[in-house]
Amino acid sequence: MKRINIIAVIFILCSTSVNAENSPKWSKRVQTALENTKQLRYDRGNRLPLYLWPAMNPGKLDDTTAEYLVKELDVRGVGLVCSWVPGENREELLNQVLTVARAQKKFGLRININATSLLYSFFNGDEQTAHIDKNGNPFWEESFGSGKMGCPFAIDYRKKDIRSRVEYYTQAYKDAGLDVDFIFADWEIDGPLEVNRAHETSKHCTRCREHIKNIDDFGTFQKVMREMRSYLQFYAYSEPVLSRFPDALVGNYAVYPNNGYRYWLDYFETEDYVDGQPYLKDQGAKYRTWYNDYPLTGYTFAMPVVYTWYPTYNWYDFDNSDYRWFYNMLLVASNVGKSTPPEIPIISFVHWHTVVITDKPDPAVKQMSEESYQELLWHMLLRGTDTFFMWCSENEDAKEVQLVHDVYAAAQEYGEFLEKGTSINFDVPDKPDTVISGLAMRDRVLLRRTDFGSTHNPVDIMVGTKKISVPYKPGVCQIIDL
Ligand SMILES: [Zn+2]
Repeated sequence: MKRINIIAVIFILCSTSVNAENSPKWSKRVQTALENTKQLRYDRGNRLPLYLWPAMNPGKLDDTTAEYLVKELDVRGVGLVCSWVPGENREELLNQVLTVARAQKKFGLRININATSLLYSFFNGDEQTAHIDKNGNPFWEESFGSGKMGCPFAIDYRKKDIRSRVEYYTQAYKDAGLDVDFIFADWEIDGPLEVNRAHETSKHCTRCREHIKNIDDFGTFQKVMREMRSYLQFYAYSEPVLSRFPDALVGNYAVYPNNGYRYWLDYFETEDYVDGQPYLKDQGAKYRTWYNDYPLTGYTFAMPVVYTWYPTYNWYDFDNSDYRWFYNMLLVASNVGKSTPPEIPIISFVHWHTVVITDKPDPAVKQMSEESYQELLWHMLLRGTDTFFMWCSENEDAKEVQLVHDVYAAAQEYGEFLEKGTSINFDVPDKPDTVISGLAMRDRVLLRRTDFGSTHNPVDIMVGTKKISVPYKPGVCQIIDL
């Protein structure tokens, strides 16, 4: 009897269960990610894992637990991400993240890094980074919320400090015989930017005027800001990573090849554009003209942002409220899909809950349905997205994880299409109607048809030079011979 009890105790100690009751050794958010995902039914091969904001920074783990956790996530198709953080505690933090990296390397999995904290901030509040007025007094650009934005021509000295932080971690990984396979940053409100009041403000700065001859022209200003911004990302971030790990996927939030327009506004961007800022009008939407900053950054993957931004809803007058979200998000996804060469992976930030920015949200703004969001994710995969990076806040973890994981897991059934297929269509209907996306491979095409209109008739679509008829089949993929 006693012997059985001892065996039982040993068994419990050895099986680090993913059940929350047994108080897991990792963070609560990682636990939520585990609980809301299932083991994949279809092998994901060497395709990119699913990235989930909650599946990040598990905390201090021993080797055995780290190995157990990365395996548990991997059978679900999820890649565990660890953050690199600067500061006094960096040695201790380095030891924590190396433990996870060793476990990932041991099982031949990608080593995934979040470099966000290393990049903040070029504008560190130091007065020498401020703009200068005609009397020689420093002043700040304050239309970006809490952060004090300064003069883009006064931050060159910051780049070596930021780069040295990236070098510290990359060299430590190199010295430990580890790799960096995927590294992203969420670097946004910092460095040279052209939006909000930045252009107006720079026109009042003597240093900015000196450096930009044609400063009154918004296009010139935008080009200079984006080139400087790209250079700083290259110098301080992508270059020190790629010089040590040439095969690494390196990227940043919202940096992706595009068609010259941006169909969404970030949470810190204002819609009341300063005179001279050009845009494309579409119903109530004003799509900014955008600069193609991707090539100058040195990045090796594209990172678009496909979110249910609150203002989007009232940009359009579609009676079908889901199509207000779907239309805008598919525009963003199609833009990056058609603008990005096939050899560059697209890792798309996604989010379902309405991203409310105002204190007094209009109750008439209706949340996108779960069904339409999941349909959107399917269309993204068929229009070039390679995998998703789901961002959310902690109270949203369970639902957000479940929605995106369902689609990611089901899509692995079509792994060969995802890897080798070519997108057949980037059209976005300008009213609620039939949306078709597909991946053609050899003599077959994988298709998704989603209907926001009333027709259930077959719809014709061109695949290369062939016309095919796509029947109404809601909620499933179909494969048609060419
Ligand atoms: Zn300035």
